[in-house]
Amino acid sequence: MVKTLVLRLDARQPDSHLIERAAAALREGGLVAFPTETVYGLGADATSAPAVSRIFAAKGRPASDPIIVHLYDLAQLEQIAVGVPSLAYDLARRFWPGPLTLVLRRGERIPPNVSAGLETVAVRMPDHPAALALFRAADLPVAAPSANRFARPSATTAAHVLEDLDGRIDVVLDGGPTVIGLESTVLDLTKPAPAVLRPGGITLEMLRAVIPDVALVSRHLQPDDAGIEAPGMLLKHYSPRAELLLFTGEPERVIPRMQAAVKDYLQAGQRVGILLPDEDADVFEGADVLVFRLGARENLAQLGANLFTGLRELDRRSADVILTRAVERSGLGVAIYDRLLRAAEGRIIAC
Ligand code: AMP
Ligand code: MG
Repeated sequence: MVKTLVLRLDARQPDSHLIERAAAALREGGLVAFPTETVYGLGADATSAPAVSRIFAAKGRPASDPIIVHLYDLAQLEQIAVGVPSLAYDLARRFWPGPLTLVLRRGERIPPNVSAGLETVAVRMPDHPAALALFRAADLPVAAPSANRFARPSATTAAHVLEDLDGRIDVVLDGGPTVIGLESTVLDLTKPAPAVLRPGGITLEMLRAVIPDVALVSRHLQPDDAGIEAPGMLLKHYSPRAELLLFTGEPERVIPRMQAAVKDYLQAGQRVGILLPDEDADVFEGADVLVFRLGARENLAQLGANLFTGLRELDRRSADVILTRAVERSGLGVAIYDRLLRAAEGRIIAC
């Protein structure tokens, strides 16, 4: 156990003394959680294999799950990757800083354990003043997965980070809740055709403006599958402790099915959580269930931003089972659906 230092800062104008304290911890090989525009990251010096191995230990993350390297300046890219294609620079100019991760060929300065032994490396520049100030002050590329225990919902507040990692990491920079609340889009540029390995904050529609025929690899792997390309693709991921059931179909059919399921679970003595957009959640107000409202149905950004908070909140309120409904699968809805599907570990009820 270490004493985890919590440093609260103004996300827009981070105090340089606090940033320097966190940067010193990174330079000394320590672990620092920090806010990004997507979710909180758990950072370590990406050039130090021992520092990176501490990330795996703190998270309980299998060594087969590669970590994204974060930078603050495009000039760092040459130190992290080799043979960077011009497409990567086109995308970086357009989407960085922002929620797009590029998979490139790994450079020698980055030790193999960052990439789970792969010859590739995932790189991104986050759009958050505190994160960028931290990397700049440390003057390092920073390896950082999401700051949650392995397979748990990602952390979108410093409180979520502490829930999972208090006593296991050196510093948490608390910059308030994250804006997007879903992880970055992972785009592989090492194959003959660019492919999205994980949908995220940069939508397929946005990528198509630059890569018209970009493909989404929508395989969902089981843990024992060989050749994991993006272990974010493991089906069990982002899981609450409660069992999550994902209902798909039109609301007119889904809601009655959910109401019937609620009745059955209540009769069986289970605590039922409801995770739904406001309009759908209204139906369940007053019933003997725990309701978490995700926001307006049409506002995918809001649904996405609240998703992991909702899963954690219903866990905290000791739901045994959580019933949720799939969102429209376009734009940010593709990423939201992906996270719901994995949190449900494939338990889909088609209505
Ligand atoms: P996390 O930041 O914890 O959400 O996880 C980072 C995710 O980035 C991994 O689960 C992979 O999906 C992806 N990733 C990181 N490095 C690589 C890589 N070298 N090749 C493919 N995907 C990667
Ligand atoms: Mg993660």
